[in-house]
Amino acid sequence: MHLERLALSRSTLDRAAHRRSDPRLIATLLADPTARVALFHEGETAVTTAPTVHLWSVEELAGVKTGEHQFFLGEDEQGRGYLALSVTERPPLPEGASWATLRDTGALLDDSGAGIFTTAVALIAWHTFHTHCANCGTGTEVVQGGWVRLCPNCRREHYPRTDPAVIMTVVGPDDRVLLGRGATWPENRYSTLAGFVEPGESLEDAVRREVAEESGVLVGDVAYRGSQPWPFPSSLMLGFRGEALSSRIRVDELELAEARWWSREELQADIKAGRVVLPPAVSIARRLIEDWFGAPIPDDPSAW
Ligand SMILES: [Zn+2]
Repeated sequence: MHLERLALSRSTLDRAAHRRSDPRLIATLLADPTARVALFHEGETAVTTAPTVHLWSVEELAGVKTGEHQFFLGEDEQGRGYLALSVTERPPLPEGASWATLRDTGALLDDSGAGIFTTAVALIAWHTFHTHCANCGTGTEVVQGGWVRLCPNCRREHYPRTDPAVIMTVVGPDDRVLLGRGATWPENRYSTLAGFVEPGESLEDAVRREVAEESGVLVGDVAYRGSQPWPFPSSLMLGFRGEALSSRIRVDELELAEARWWSREELQADIKAGRVVLPPAVSIARRLIEDWFGAPIPDDPSAW
C-alpha cells in the first residue's frame, strides 16, 4: 500500500475548474455572502485553535487592505466558493487564532485547512516568480481565477509549474537504511536523499542517479511509495524506496556532509540519545523513514 494521508497531500475542496473560465468569477464571489476567504501575508495565514485555516466571510473583510493575489480555490460540498487573497496588512484575528507558516502547521491542520494552505502557498509562489512571458518578455495578466497567466502581446498562456523531485529511502541487503546529512544542515539532522528530476529522465533513473551522485551507492529496483506537494517554492516530492546493489559509501561533499547505514535498532538508539534528529512530520522524508522502520517514530524520543 502506498503512503496515505501525507500532511500536505490532504484536501477537501472540489477545485471546480469549470468555473475558472468565468471572467467575473472572483468579483462574483467577493459579493457572495456564502463565499469563504482565506487571507495570506508573507507566507503565513491565520490558523485557529482547531487547528484549521481561519476563513472570513466577504462581509468581515470590509476595510481589509487586499494585495495583488486573488485566487479561486474551489467549492465545498455545499457549493460555497473559496477564495485565497493576499493582504498588505494583517487584520485582527478571532480569539486564539494566530499567523503561522505552512511548514510549522501543515502536519497539524485538518484536511480542509491543509489543502487550502498548500494550494495557496504554491499559487502565490508561482505568481511571484513568473510575472513575465517566457516567450516574449511582456508582463502577463492573471486570468482563469488565478490559474493561468496570459501574455497580452503574443497571447501565449502560462500555467502554474510544479517541479518533480524524487526523494527516497535506500535499503541495503541487510535491511539497513541509508540516510544523509546535508552539507548545510544542523549537526544531528539526518534524512533521506533527494533531488530534482532532470529533462529527459525517468523518475526511476532520477532516483538511481541522485543516490549514486550523492552517496556512491548503486540502486537497482525502485518502487513508488507516494507523493506530496512541497510548495517551497514549487516542488512535487515523489517518494520511492530503492534497493541498494552496493554498500560502499563515497559522499559528494558539496551536497552531503555525511551518509551512513542504520539498522532499526541503531537508528532507534541514536534518536533516543539525541545523536540523530529526523525531519519533521510535515515532510514526506519522515514518512518514508517510518515506512522502512515499520512504525511511527515519536517526535519526543523519551516517549519510546
Ligand atoms: Zn508573450
